[in-house]
Amino acid sequence: MMNRIDQQIAYRLNQNQRILIVSHVRPDADAVGSVLAMGLALINAGKSVQMVLEDGAAGFEYLPKIQLVNQAPEGEADFIIVLDCSDPERVGQVLNDYGKPDLVVDHHKTNHSFGTYNIVEPEQVATAGILFDRLPKWGLTIDLDVATCLLAGIVGDTIGFRTSNVNSETMRRTAALMDLGADLASIYREELVLQSFNAVRYWGAGLSRIQHDGGIIWTSLTLDDRQDIEYPGNDDADLVNILSSVREAEIALIFVEQSQNDVKISWRARPGLDVSGIATFFGGGGHAAAAGADVKGSLEDVQKRVILQTKNLLEERKSE
Ligand code: 5GP
Ligand code: MN
Repeated sequence: MMNRIDQQIAYRLNQNQRILIVSHVRPDADAVGSVLAMGLALINAGKSVQMVLEDGAAGFEYLPKIQLVNQAPEGEADFIIVLDCSDPERVGQVLNDYGKPDLVVDHHKTNHSFGTYNIVEPEQVATAGILFDRLPKWGLTIDLDVATCLLAGIVGDTIGFRTSNVNSETMRRTAALMDLGADLASIYREELVLQSFNAVRYWGAGLSRIQHDGGIIWTSLTLDDRQDIEYPGNDDADLVNILSSVREAEIALIFVEQSQNDVKISWRARPGLDVSGIATFFGGGGHAAAAGADVKGSLEDVQKRVILQTKNLLEERKSE
């Protein structure tokens, strides 16, 4: 069924030619997959499309036409789309010279609805799932490449269908994407299994300092680790997923030093706990089970403050 907002978006997409699509800094598979899926579908519809991710799309070379993604926009745009971002800051600097986004599509319950049209569905496991439902309503076609990108988003955000929000709808969307030709085994392997040798050595550095107190497990990755190991990214190489596999962990955290005065934090929670509030408290956001924030301060200082607050959260939960 077509509702009014879908009709309006379909009309606006049809009327406008130069379309700029962006997502968040330190992009994950849902960010890259959603941008590329939307972009390729619009290119197929004859649009002039810019796909922009401030931090680039390294690590996603397995996705079709990934070379079309740039790190900065050029020239004017008639219609701006922001995907998988709960707030405008998370886009980075790429929209600084542009106005308010025309369309925001996201599944974070912490979304600020900062576009003219906002499609925010927190019950969806990935922004890619929302696009799977909506692209046809907006007059766009899901071909093999688009299907591959959408399935990559779903596989990435569910960590291979492991998160507790996965339901039969997720599997029906996945089945439909496979019917369109998307290769689940290959996407799964590229997205979740294969890691570079240096990424695994980087895990080693973090794992060598792992700490456990009450229900909380945490570690850090420092600028020195990155330099010593020659790890090219500024992310955690998904080490937080390994931490959250520790049975004793109700909440797992990782602190990734970005500079002397900036730390990226990721929280992962057991089903039933909600870390999105604490991430929002520290200026970030996310989902109940997975959330993050960027916090100013030294690694030591940020770690101390955040561990304390996270412990308080667990204590409050226990006394409820
Ligand atoms: P991760 O910890 O893997 O970076 O992110 C986990 C979840 O939290 C993702 O859904 C991500 O979009 C969200 N998230 C991570 N960092 C930030 C942040 O700095 N700001 C906001 N708003 N959300 C974040
Ligand atoms: Mn997402």
